[in-house]
Amino acid sequence: MPTTPVPLNTPSAEEKLDQRLKALINSMSDAVITVDDKIKIVTYNAAALNILDVNTIKVGSRLDKVFKPVDANNKPVDITQVVSNVKLPIYSRDYKLRYADDSMINLYTSIAPVRLGYGQEGAKGFVLLLRDITREKSLEEERDEFISVVSHELRTPIAITEGNIGNAEFLVEKTSDLSQIKQALKEAHSQVLFLADMINDLSTLSRAERGTLTVEVEPINVVDLVNELANNYLPECKAKKLQLKVDLDPHLEVLKSSKLYVKEILQNFITNAIKYTTEGSITVSAKSEDKAVRFTVSDTGIGISKGDQERVFDKFFRSEDYRTRQSKGTGLGLYVTMKLTKLIHANISLKSDLNKGSTFTIIIPDLK
Ligand code: ADP
Repeated sequence: MPTTPVPLNTPSAEEKLDQRLKALINSMSDAVITVDDKIKIVTYNAAALNILDVNTIKVGSRLDKVFKPVDANNKPVDITQVVSNVKLPIYSRDYKLRYADDSMINLYTSIAPVRLGYGQEGAKGFVLLLRDITREKSLEEERDEFISVVSHELRTPIAITEGNIGNAEFLVEKTSDLSQIKQALKEAHSQVLFLADMINDLSTLSRAERGTLTVEVEPINVVDLVNELANNYLPECKAKKLQLKVDLDPHLEVLKSSKLYVKEILQNFITNAIKYTTEGSITVSAKSEDKAVRFTVSDTGIGISKGDQERVFDKFFRSEDYRTRQSKGTGLGLYVTMKLTKLIHANISLKSDLNKGSTFTIIIPDLK
């Protein structure tokens, strides 16, 4: 039977597997570096060059010449020592790498002992896998900070509510003076309302961050909306002896946007204006622009310093100004406002003079 000759240069099954493995390791986005028992580099893949930020690695060079991680406290890690001591696979999420431009990345590092060549006596070594986890780390840190701030913010109103209800219970037994009981219940009620507001802000925030907020465009009668808001906030302004002015452009037409979000944004501006103003007035105005409406909420309040103006839209930011701290707040209102603003393609600007007042302006375009 005739046999087909096998060309001499056809790779064997083993060689094919070897090539495939090499291609695979080279396509990985994680850096793979193997070292011998003297912790000198034997092989590495393409991603190792990226992560270590070098153009080439000399085979045979010591690992600590190219890989110089620092630990969570920014102390240099003796990587040669760490690798030499590995008996079973280990991993760390605490190592960081500092680049020449001073930027840092967080690394997932796994180190495992290997036998580099079958049957070759003493050909032992280690395999290192490095992954850039900077983004995950910063999300983890943000989440931890978020939990710590939220639990702190929740604890105070809950403690005050608990104290006042406890006090009211005590007073019911001990006194016939209803006014003290009323006062305690009033304070407890106001704290519960604050908690409800905060939970609303948190739930909007979480939906905005998960990207599950949808925009439902509808025609908004701007005149009706502004008048409705003014009516809702009039009692609060009266209670603080503030004048509430409305300035409406007679040419205002219907605005096509999300009524829910436009209302929430304006409410945030107005509640802040009332909160941070002790005397004078609040003015809400709406003017017609080309296929958009320009809303402004101005106050004659405490104002915002130049430094703080850059941060008022940050998550949990509240000014250190003692007058800010006299009223309750979570520092989430303007952050949520900014998220909603982006969703409806609007634009916010802020003008403020410390001790004189602030003006928040938002230009909301017609959508669709
Ligand atoms: P808060 O719940 O603290 O009011 P916001 O996110 O609504 O949170 O506002 C963030 C911070 O911006 C406030 O704590 C305050 O320092 C400042 N701020 C916002 N609006 C005003 C305003 N109209 N006048 C003065 N300061 C303001």
